Amino acid sequence: TIAFNNIVKKFGALTVIENLNLEIGDGEFLVLLGPSGCGKTTLLNLLAGLLEIDRGEIRIGEHDVSYLDPKDRGLAMVFQSYALYPTKTVRGNMNFGLSSRGISREEADKRIAWAAKLLQIEHLLDRKPSQLSGGQRQRVAIGRALVKQYGVCLFDEPLSNLDAKLRNEMRIEIKKLHNQLKNTVVYVTHDQVEAMTMATKIAVMDNGVIQQFGTPDQIYNEPANLFVADFVGSPA
Ligand code: ATP
Repeated sequence: TIAFNNIVKKFGALTVIENLNLEIGDGEFLVLLGPSGCGKTTLLNLLAGLLEIDRGEIRIGEHDVSYLDPKDRGLAMVFQSYALYPTKTVRGNMNFGLSSRGISREEADKRIAWAAKLLQIEHLLDRKPSQLSGGQRQRVAIGRALVKQYGVCLFDEPLSNLDAKLRNEMRIEIKKLHNQLKNTVVYVTHDQVEAMTMATKIAVMDNGVIQQFGTPDQIYNEPANLFVADFVGSPA
């Protein structure tokens, strides 16, 4: 279980996260949904440890990780920009950081082969990112997260740079992957359709506050207020 307890985050005078509470059960696919600027990415970065909370507590399982180094939190992250190393091959990108975690060459090769097969990028392992399409780069970014074999994976708008057709395909694949791995996913998007089709739970955010937390069905059919109804396009 991941728990945000009374989280506050400010940038100068601007309060971006306001006394936020949220609990994410093991194996859930939690989508943080909300308009641009509502604080979704900030919340994800607080969980990842890329930003520090001003108040409150973040727990992962038994551990208070509030002030833990990002690399010690046991989370894999897939960014919107993919953030691949341009000079490394696909294999090199996926391998990066494994040996420094004490993972043997043999084990690393095994994991890369597993993830490459799962994502159907086996034929691309020796290419550089510049020789890949957007969708292929995206798969590599996901592969790099998967080989760490952490129980929790964070996604920040991972499909927003793809065209509509590919976005659809990748949605289905990420969902399939989750069904297979049964890991915990925290997934940021401003796209209602993405949220409705992928999530097991949705947290609708506005202005640093969670307006509603529930299943896609609850959010759509029993919106807690006008903002939620408007944002997810519930029937009037
Ligand atoms: P988007 O979907 O556009 O990425 P978001 O919901 O992820 O939006 P955040 O990126 O979390 O929103 O930003 C929330 C608010 O905090 C915005 O008003 C943004 O301008 C502000 N903000 C984010 N990062 C910083 C920063 N480093 N310094 C100052 N303000 C920031």
